[in-house]
Amino acid sequence: MSLAECDVIARPVRRAEELADLHGIVIPGGESTTMSRLLDVFEVRSALEERLRAGLPAYGSCAGMIMLAREVLDGREDQRSFGALDMVVRRNAFGRQVDSFEADLDIKGLDGDAFRAVFIRAPWVESVGPDVEVLAEVGPEVTGDQDTLGRIVAVRQGPVLATSFHPELTGDERVHRLFAEIVRGA
Ligand code: GLN
Repeated sequence: MSLAECDVIARPVRRAEELADLHGIVIPGGESTTMSRLLDVFEVRSALEERLRAGLPAYGSCAGMIMLAREVLDGREDQRSFGALDMVVRRNAFGRQVDSFEADLDIKGLDGDAFRAVFIRAPWVESVGPDVEVLAEVGPEVTGDQDTLGRIVAVRQGPVLATSFHPELTGDERVHRLFAEIVRGA
């Protein structure tokens, strides 16, 4: 697992009690509508909401990014997100033609070469509030689609980080390392 490479102890969280001693949380990719439902079924939502409000460092990738947003476009009506990032995201934003794609991204705050990013039915960030720092964007040159010009795919607001893509799939740990640093600094 990517986090284990960053000298942190990672463990799954399934119940609200397991949130108590965390120093940071990763909300992975998957399906945000299902995640939203399961948060209620397992009664984890309010405890996690509270910890996020109190400044728990968090990293969300893909569906995890959606879960951290203030507002979700093209979501299911009953899906709810945490609002830990002052941004609006659009689910499945890249559309059918570029449903899934890879791109070499320049990500602010990462040293070295471009980051090979894997997008799978990914959201993009439609707009951000003043406190959100944009870390990476894509455009038609990587997606082949003119509608994707300047679309935001990585952001940070204080201790909360999110990416539209899945950094755990390529063996490049730099995004996880950045999050580990945020957790250590918090
Ligand atoms: N399309 C998914 C959603 O809406 C996200 C896909 C992913 O996490 N790879 O939640």
